[in-house]
Amino acid sequence: MKIGILGNGQLGQMLAASVTDLTDLDVSLYDLRAHEESKLNAFIDGVDLVSYETENIPAHIVHQLEAIEDKVFPSLKALKTFQNRLLEKNALRAAGIATADFHAVNSLEDVHQAIDVLGLPIVMKTTTEGYDGKGQFVLRKPEDAETAWETIGHRELIAEAFVAFQRETSVIASRDRDGNIKIWPMTENIHHEGILRYSLYPISELSSEKSDIAKRYIRDLANSLDYVGTITLELFETEQGLIANEVAPRVHNSGHWSIEGSEASQFRNHMLALGSKPLGNTQAKHAAVAMVNVISDETASLKADSLSNAYRHSYGKEARPARKLGHITVVANSIEERNKTVDALVYVIPEGVWKNQ
Ligand code: AMP
Repeated sequence: MKIGILGNGQLGQMLAASVTDLTDLDVSLYDLRAHEESKLNAFIDGVDLVSYETENIPAHIVHQLEAIEDKVFPSLKALKTFQNRLLEKNALRAAGIATADFHAVNSLEDVHQAIDVLGLPIVMKTTTEGYDGKGQFVLRKPEDAETAWETIGHRELIAEAFVAFQRETSVIASRDRDGNIKIWPMTENIHHEGILRYSLYPISELSSEKSDIAKRYIRDLANSLDYVGTITLELFETEQGLIANEVAPRVHNSGHWSIEGSEASQFRNHMLALGSKPLGNTQAKHAAVAMVNVISDETASLKADSLSNAYRHSYGKEARPARKLGHITVVANSIEERNKTVDALVYVIPEGVWKNQ
C-alpha cells in the first residue's frame, strides 16, 4: 500500500521511518512549502491513501483534498474540526469532555461581552493557525480589551476562561479502521516561552481516576469522529479534574518518547492504522522515561551520545532561534535514574526549567 504524507518535516520523517521494516507499506512525503496544485495532484495520483503531519494545511489545499475525501486519514472532517478552536471546543463538548468555558469573539464588543460572561482573567486566541502560544493574549483587567483586540489584529477569535492548572499533560491514542484503540500512558509536559521543553512519564502522583478519565476522553473523542490514525489530546490538570485544552489530529511532540519508550510508537501505530494492520502495544517498556526537546542549538545535546540510556534524534535542520532541531529520549529503570540522566543533559534545557521531579 502506498501512503502519502503531506509535510516532510520531522513528523513526516519519523512516520516514514517507523515502518521501514514493513515492505508492503510504501511511504512518500509531500513538501507543503513547495506546493503547486499540479504537484499535489500528481502526488495524490501516486498513492492509495493520504495523511498529514500537520493540521496547518491551507484552505485551498484542504479544498483540493475534498475530491479524494475518502482516501484521506484522519478524515477531512477531523482535520477541519481541529483546525478551528471553536469547532474543536464544540466537538470536545459534544463528546462529553470538560473544557474551559469559551465565547466566540469577532469584534471589540464581543471582547467586552466575553469578559461579562466568562469573568477575568481570559485567554484570547485566534481560532485558526495559532501554535506554540502564538496569536494569544491574556486579559487580566477590563482595560486590556482594546489592547488585546488590537494586538491580535481584529481576527476571528475565541475567548477562554483562564484555567488555573497545576500541570499540563497529554494523552495520545491510535484508532484503526475497525474502531480498535490503543492508548499510550499520559505524560506531563513542561513548556517554556510557549514551546514544549520536556515530557515525563510517569506523571508523579497522578491518580488512577485521572488517568482513567483521560483514556475515556480520548476514546470517546476518537469514536465520536470515527477517527483513523494517531490523535493527541492536551489536558490541563486542575484540582477539580482534567480539562481539555486542545487536540492535534496527528502525532505529537509529547509522544516522541514512544519510539524507544514503548513497543509501538505513536508514528508506527498511525501507519499501521492507515495500513489496516493490527495496532502495536502502547505500554511503557521502562519504569521512567523523559523526552527532552533540543531547541535553537544542538551543541549541548551531543552529550547524549556518551550516555547509554539516552537516544538523540537530530532533525537535520538549520539552527534558528526557537526552532525544534531534535529531541533526546531518556529511558530508565527508576525515576531517580531518569532524573540523574536528565541532570547530565541539563544544558539542553533553558536555565531553571528542569524541575528534577
Ligand atoms: P495553546 O496554543 O492553546 O496550547 O496554548 C498555549 C499555552 O497557553 C498552553 O500550553 C497553556 O500553557 C496556556 N493556555 C492556553 N489556554 C489556556 C487557558 N484557557 N488557561 C490558562 N492557560 C492557557
